[in-house]
Amino acid sequence: STAVDPVPAEVRERHSELCEVIDDHSYRYYMQTPIISDSEYDALMQELRGIEDRHPSLVTQDSPTQKVGAPVSVDFAAVEHLVRMQSLDNAFDADELAAWAHRVENEIAIESYLCELKIDGLAVDLVYRDGRLHQAATRGDGRVGEDITYNVRTIADIPERLDGSVRPVPPLLEVRGEVFLPGEAFQALNARLADEGKAQFANPRNGAAGSLRQKDPRVTASRPLSMLVHGVGAYEDVEFSHQSQAYEALREWGLPVSDRYRVVASLDDVRAYISHYAEHRHEPAYEIDGVVVKVNDISVQRRLGSTSRAPRWAIAYKYAPEEVTTKLLDIRVNV
Ligand code: NAD
Repeated sequence: STAVDPVPAEVRERHSELCEVIDDHSYRYYMQTPIISDSEYDALMQELRGIEDRHPSLVTQDSPTQKVGAPVSVDFAAVEHLVRMQSLDNAFDADELAAWAHRVENEIAIESYLCELKIDGLAVDLVYRDGRLHQAATRGDGRVGEDITYNVRTIADIPERLDGSVRPVPPLLEVRGEVFLPGEAFQALNARLADEGKAQFANPRNGAAGSLRQKDPRVTASRPLSMLVHGVGAYEDVEFSHQSQAYEALREWGLPVSDRYRVVASLDDVRAYISHYAEHRHEPAYEIDGVVVKVNDISVQRRLGSTSRAPRWAIAYKYAPEEVTTKLLDIRVNV
């Protein structure tokens, strides 16, 4: 049938304008320096999602709602991930969190959720072959990332060889995590850059990204980056039953796993974890912008599956922004 497209011209125009503006901010955020705050960016995305919910014919593969990250820079070799790296869907309040949990629980019974902190860092993929660090890459567009192996080798938290003394090391293990600059290290780095008359970083995330995505690994080596791992990609000759059991294995192999994650039985317990860290947001040495809630059972994760952009079995609960940002100058003042 030849249905007449019901989308009004001004909606179509706003949609394409938002796509363009969001792609531009994404490019700046992943490749250079952001010029708007994350909550301003999130508001643009919310508006775009609202339009696409009302007018599904506007959804194309190319829309920012369907994509992850940004294309890779020509400064680095391209690396194809063994398993796609995704983003996360967001919940901005208790109702959106409950709506997600109800969607999941309508489909399948949930025995436990795993709650962990959403680290505001840079997503990095590590591939270990026969227990040795073989390759490290940024997330890029989720399918292809940037080769940063030499830079990652300078990070003290990341083992060059996995420890097989407790548990045999699998022939292949792809792990994902967040590289970040601890708060004090970020302050010290900015002070040093100021002394040297160089441009400072807008925030720790930007500092971590700028330090890691260096052409000269010696520059990366001079920056005290840390990493925490929070997921697995491809693996061979090993099985993981639960997200938490995977974390125990990763820890035994010597990978840096946070000790702040909790396995809980109910949505009420998830809410308690979220309120605890809303109150204790500055307790960790790194910046967090929310809490990630994951279905703990990996066979249930598989059954729930993913969209093109994000898993259905996890959600990022985002905290309200703490900083005041002036839109034009991006001067941030902590209140
Ligand atoms: P996201 O940051 O909302 O969530 C996905 C990422 O969270 C994952 O890729 C993973 O690396 C990370 N993560 C951190 N802790 C985790 C944990 N414990 N478990 C699992 N994953 C964890 O999504 P995104 O696609 O990376 O980026 C979108 C966000 O980036 C936006 O919501 C916005 O806040 C920000 N952004 C800002 C601008 C800007 O101009 N200010 C531009 C683009 C994006």
